[in-house]
Amino acid sequence: MPTQVTYPVAGSCQCGQVTYSLKTAPLVIAACHCIDCQKLSASAFSLTLVCQTDQVEFRGQLKQWERLAESGNRNQAFFCPECGNRIYHLNPEQPKLIKLKGGTLSNTDVIQPNVHVWISRKQKWLEIPDGIPTFEQQPPKEVFMKAIQQEETA
Ligand SMILES: [Zn+2]
Ligand SMILES: [Zn+2]
Repeated sequence: MPTQVTYPVAGSCQCGQVTYSLKTAPLVIAACHCIDCQKLSASAFSLTLVCQTDQVEFRGQLKQWERLAESGNRNQAFFCPECGNRIYHLNPEQPKLIKLKGGTLSNTDVIQPNVHVWISRKQKWLEIPDGIPTFEQQPPKEVFMKAIQQEETA
């Protein structure tokens, strides 16, 4: 059973210049094992928490960098200009959803991935727990959209 989490949950960059408050549970919690995510997290995978933009409140100064994803999607990355910690990503064509970088949360009980993507690039020593959906590469858009629509109609 997932640990019960009480919202809001605070988060911050490593130096503390940027802080934020996540007011409600994320819609999707994805672990992405693609090469880009290994690079950006400087680790084995990245934790992406898809949240409604209006459910997160940021304080402090953020710097922005934009890249074009392999999918053709524009991906804006926001990070702390002091310590360089990546805080969230945003596709400007879907401004209502942000992808929060889960490792910056103060309460890591929030982080229980409900999907693993790009497992074709996964590091070999890492084993994914049974019962969690996986995708060899990028999942079809519906995977995220379904969770989001369920939330909206709930
Ligand atoms: Zn910082
Ligand atoms: Zn990735």
